[in-house]
Amino acid sequence: MRSRVGIVGAGQLGRMLALSGYPLGIKTTFLDRSADTPGGQVAPIIVGELDDPERLAQLAAASDVLTFDWENIEGTRLAPLEGTTPIRPPRAALEVSQDRLHEKALFSALKIPVAPHAAVDSREDLLRARQTLGLRGILKTRRLGYDGKGQLLLDEADDLDEVWARIGQSGLIYEQFQTFSREVSLIGARSASGAIVYYPLASNTHSGGVLRYTVAPYANAPLERLARRYLKKVMEHLDYVGVLTIEFFVVNGRLVANEMAPRVHNSGHWTIEGCVTSQFENHLRAICDLPLGSTRAHGHAAMVNFLGNMPKMDPLLRLDGLAFHDYGKVPRPGRKVGHCTILARTARERNEVLSKALQWVEWT
Ligand code: AMP
Repeated sequence: MRSRVGIVGAGQLGRMLALSGYPLGIKTTFLDRSADTPGGQVAPIIVGELDDPERLAQLAAASDVLTFDWENIEGTRLAPLEGTTPIRPPRAALEVSQDRLHEKALFSALKIPVAPHAAVDSREDLLRARQTLGLRGILKTRRLGYDGKGQLLLDEADDLDEVWARIGQSGLIYEQFQTFSREVSLIGARSASGAIVYYPLASNTHSGGVLRYTVAPYANAPLERLARRYLKKVMEHLDYVGVLTIEFFVVNGRLVANEMAPRVHNSGHWTIEGCVTSQFENHLRAICDLPLGSTRAHGHAAMVNFLGNMPKMDPLLRLDGLAFHDYGKVPRPGRKVGHCTILARTARERNEVLSKALQWVEWT
């Protein structure tokens, strides 16, 4: 067993990983720019830039395995560490997920459907993409875009020159707009020996590109089977170790892969209370060479993100089956500062408590 885990980035994902490690006797150390981070509040932290080679080497020296809260570290920064400390998930998985074009190429190579798209590096590329792929479409940065950041929805009313003047640059991707009936995500964990466990499919509601709430399990056996097949293909192709998430659009009853996250995922926070083994614990189990835990759901769950501000605690705590999570962050507009999870015996009860909880949550 590997019992010392180095986590690059000390955000809320890292914090929940560290907390899930305590009962197993797993000790985590973070690397991040400030000690007053969600992770730094609950476990030791090395303070420095996330891609500083010396700090990364220091983290590696203090760890039996390295993993990530923030997956956008350049592969070249990680390569020198691989000889001494295993990096899980593997560097190749991080690299492919850092670039939307490479990610879509991987999905396509594995016969996983994606939205029609084109690389855009100039005004002419955008003109051509709009002609071939049509309007509406979404122009996104290929790298470092998340939660709807670096994205622009384009329709007939948009003037090409204006759009280009606003966000024109190289390194973009134009995606055909998908008219979906639902967004779902599938989270799974794979061990180094190739064992895989899957969580129940989750249904996600976004607004402005940011996840607002998740409901799970989303009971749709054919879609779940398909999503599992796709996730398994990606995991096996990458010889993946750890938790991997794929987000999909449901379009005409088919799954269209939007993106993958080589880490624990916001749409899996409900698994802390909602499943026998949370996504955080299973990530640690996978990377520490421990047996994977059961992903069985205890009941029907919903998770609501707190964005921009923390809601009043008391009225939420009064709701039956509600668990409250404060990440210890300074509120800023749009920032994920906490979440709550509702767990109920039936989907109907869950939905009732969810609608009550939503009355107390204001996204700012
Ligand atoms: P992303 O950063 O790619 O996960 O996008 C954030 C959100 O924007 C998604 O969860 C969708 O709600 C929306 N979105 C992104 N790409 C598309 C697309 N091609 N068609 C329709 N909606 C999209």
